[in-house]
Amino acid sequence: MTTLLWFRRDLRLSDHSALTAACKHGPVVPVFIRDAGLDALGTAPKWRLGLSVAALAETLDAAGSRLILRSGAPAEVLSALARETGATRIHCVRAYHPEEPSLDFELCESFTAQDIVFETFDGRVLFEPDSVETKSGGPYKVFSPYWKSVKSRDIAAPLKVPSEIPTPADWPDTENLDDWALGRGMQRGAEVVLGHTSPGETAAQDRLAAFIDDAVADYHKRRDLPAVDGTSGMSEYLTYGEISPRQCWHAGLRAREEGKRGAEDFLRELGWREFAYHLMVHMPRLLTGNWREKWDGFPWKDDERAAEIKAWKQGRTGIPLVDAGMREMYVTGRMHNRVRMITASYLTKHLLTDWKVGLRWFEDCLTDWDPASNAMGWQWVAGSGPDASPYFRVFNPETQREKFDPDGAYVNRWIAEGQSDPPDTALAYFEAIPKRWNMSPDDPYPEPVVALDEGRQRALDAYSNRSF
Ligand code: FAD
Repeated sequence: MTTLLWFRRDLRLSDHSALTAACKHGPVVPVFIRDAGLDALGTAPKWRLGLSVAALAETLDAAGSRLILRSGAPAEVLSALARETGATRIHCVRAYHPEEPSLDFELCESFTAQDIVFETFDGRVLFEPDSVETKSGGPYKVFSPYWKSVKSRDIAAPLKVPSEIPTPADWPDTENLDDWALGRGMQRGAEVVLGHTSPGETAAQDRLAAFIDDAVADYHKRRDLPAVDGTSGMSEYLTYGEISPRQCWHAGLRAREEGKRGAEDFLRELGWREFAYHLMVHMPRLLTGNWREKWDGFPWKDDERAAEIKAWKQGRTGIPLVDAGMREMYVTGRMHNRVRMITASYLTKHLLTDWKVGLRWFEDCLTDWDPASNAMGWQWVAGSGPDASPYFRVFNPETQREKFDPDGAYVNRWIAEGQSDPPDTALAYFEAIPKRWNMSPDDPYPEPVVALDEGRQRALDAYSNRSF
C-alpha cells in the first residue's frame, strides 16, 4: 500500500496530517513537483522555495527517507510515479489559491477512475474558509466580526513528526534540485539575502520558541517599531509551510496562559492571515482587481518605466522611511509590517500609482510572499479592499518616522547616503542591487521625487468628486 506524499507549501515533517496518515498505510514516497505555478513565481519567492525544498530533502534524508523531485503537470507526474512505484494512494495538504481547489478536484476524479485514492488534508490554515460564514450566510468582509466568530474555536493540538517514515523497496528516479536553478534570477542578490534567512523546519521551530520565550510578552508594545526585533518572523516559514499555523497558534495560546500580554495580539495577527485566505477563497478577484469596483475607473498611473515608480522600487524617492523599507526588502527579502503600509500608501497615494504595480514588485522581492496576505495588504492600503483603510487616509511618512522610528535607528540601518560610517546593512543594499541601477553609497541622498504635502494634496484632489 505505497502512498505518494505530494509536498506543496507544507515543507515540514511535524504537524503534517497528510504524512502522518500516509505512514499508517505503508511505504511512503515523498515527492515535490516543479509545476507551472512554481515557474511563475517571482524571483525571491522562487529562490527561497528552492532553499526550503533543499532543507526538506535533508530532513527526510536524516529520517531515513528521500524527497523525489519531478517536473511537469501534477496529473502527469503523479500518474507516472504511481505506475513506477505501484502506489495506490496519493496524499497532499489542501491548497487554496483559486486554481488549486479545482486542480485537486480534477486530480481526485481522475485518480479515482484509476483506482487510486487521492486524499487532501488540512494544515495550511486554521479555519477552513468554507467553515466560516456570517449569520445571514456568505463570507465575512470585515475582519472584526470574522475574528469574533473564530477566535474561540478549538484547534486540535499539532501532530508530532511520525516516529518512522516507512520506505519503499525501490526508490524511483529523482531530478536534481541544482538543475532547476531556482535562484537564477537573484543574481548577486542571492548571497546578500542568504545572510538574512534561515530556511527549514528546525530554524522555524527555533525562531518560534525564541519569540514565545521572550519577545511575545511585549509584542503589543513593540510590533510597530521597525528598528526592533519585536515580531515573530513567522511569515516566511508559514509561506512555505516550514511551520504550521496550528503550531504558531498553540504556542500563542501557551504564552497567553503564562500571562504574556502580547500573546493575544499575536493570535489576532495570525487571524489576519486566516482572514486573507477567507477573502481569497470566497472573493478570488481580491488577487487581480479592485475589490470595490467603483475604483475601476480611477486614473491610477501604471507605467512601470515612469521615473517616480522606478524611484519607489529602487529606494530613492528621497523620503527616508519609504526608501529604508524598500531597501530592507531588497536586502532581507522581508519588510516590517508598519513600513509595508507606509511604502504602499506612498506609492498608491503620494504617487497615485495602481496598487497592482506595488503588489507585483512585492511579489517579486518578498521571500515571505503570500498571494492572499499580499493582495489583502495592498487593497487595504489603497482603499479598494473589502475591509480597507479609508481611501482619504494618507499616511505621512515623516510623522510616521517621528512616531515609530524616533531616533532614526531603522532609517540609518538601511540608508547609507549621508552617513560617514554607514553600517553593513545599509552597504549591503549596493551589493544586492543590479549594477545598472547605477547607485552608490557615496552619492548624495536624493531630493524627494514629490514634496509630501504636494503629493498628499494631489491625491486628495484626485479623490474629490468621486464616490468610492
Ligand atoms: P508578526 O507580526 O509576528 O505576525 C505573526 C503572523 O501573523 C505573521 O507571520 C503573518 O502570518 C500574520 N500576519 C501579521 N500581520 C498580518 C497582516 N497584516 N496580514 C496578514 N497576515 C498577517 N504577509 C505575508 O505573509 N506575505 C505577504 O506577501 C505580505 N504582503 C503584505 C503587503 C502589504 C502591502 C502589507 C501592508 C502587508 C503584507 N503582509 C504580508 C502582512 C504583514 O506585513 C506580514 O505578515 C508581517 O510583516 C510578517 O512579519 P512577522 O512574521 O514578524 O509578523
